[in-house]
Amino acid sequence: MATVNIRRNVDDKFYRYKMPSLLTKVEGRGNGIKTVIPNMEDVAHALARPPTYPTKFFGCELGAQTTFANDRYIVNGSHTAERLRELLDTFIEKFVLCPSCKNPETELIITGKGNSEAIHRDCKACGRQNDIDMRHKLTTFILRNPPKKDKGKKGGKQMTATANVGGPMVFEKGTNGNGNAEDGSDDGAQSPDIGLAAAVPTSGTDIDDALGRSDPILGNPDAAEEVSKKLEALNVDEDDEEDANSPYTALGSWLKENKTADDAAVISKIKELEIVGKHKVLLEIGQHLFTDEIAKEIGKRVSLLQVLVQANSEKHQKSLLGGIERLLALSPQSEQLLAAGTTSKVLMALYQADILEEEVVRQWGTHVSKKYVDKDKSKKVRKSADAFLKWLDEAEESSEEEDED
Ligand SMILES: [Zn+2]
Repeated sequence: MATVNIRRNVDDKFYRYKMPSLLTKVEGRGNGIKTVIPNMEDVAHALARPPTYPTKFFGCELGAQTTFANDRYIVNGSHTAERLRELLDTFIEKFVLCPSCKNPETELIITGKGNSEAIHRDCKACGRQNDIDMRHKLTTFILRNPPKKDKGKKGGKQMTATANVGGPMVFEKGTNGNGNAEDGSDDGAQSPDIGLAAAVPTSGTDIDDALGRSDPILGNPDAAEEVSKKLEALNVDEDDEEDANSPYTALGSWLKENKTADDAAVISKIKELEIVGKHKVLLEIGQHLFTDEIAKEIGKRVSLLQVLVQANSEKHQKSLLGGIERLLALSPQSEQLLAAGTTSKVLMALYQADILEEEVVRQWGTHVSKKYVDKDKSKKVRKSADAFLKWLDEAEESSEEEDED
């Protein structure tokens, strides 16, 4: 089955989070014309949301009635797959992705009572909780049909959102909260044949392949935690050792003594050490080419860094970030530098020069790591990046507003 990145605008073959491409089938004619989404369950499964949520979302956005019964997810009227895929992108943006780190491994959590009820996205990747915009009509539906967790019950088929964990969900007319009596439309409008839905193979996603499991378990908080741990382990760099005799150490020492060397001299040193193109070069550059004045110095080194950070190489960008992290964390002036928002200034310069990609810098900024400095320092350095990360969020929001019409 064709899969697409959950964030369809991410053009990266190695993006981990995939979902089946949403399919549609228009049935009936005249006033009875309707659009069936035969693989809604598989798509929703990949997003760890009940299939009713995106279906209902389509209904809200299109002003159309929706029906879900007998595993059939239907939007009244005739709609193209492309239109629904675009709406699904919006659903994912508003109800799935973590606004802080853009990771889709989030869980919907409902807090408050009565009029102060609110829905949050609880991110398994970065740990932040972000609010859902309660002005959207779908929130009413979610509050009425919350993603239930029946942890205590063993066996027995769950009829709620956590059924995502296991097999297909079955909705029977009027037997549970997801029956959507509100629409009053599940009254035999759909035929009992499930031929098409049954014909769509339900395969696992790439993330499952990576983890060696057959069922996405993103909807289950305990399992999700285990998954994040495993994913972390997958991120481990193979060539981590730092050898005192390595050419990288030699480069570092040379840079310390030659911080004012021109770009050409730096490049010929890298050539001489025969480490051209290696991502670890960037770690040394980030840590040793600059001083406490890095916020001012970075602008003069943009062309050098553009050459060294090979286009779209996440490894190179991460190494550069690691080097800068070390510089800022280990400086005797560290506290003052961080308080002055130096991290944000440096990241902004690197981002504007296309040296760092949004994806990579977000991931870095939202994941404390003790790979380069201790955890406490790592946290502080990232805190000093807050202004930049906020700016990224706002830049994205305003470009979204422009896109909407
Ligand atoms: Zn997050």
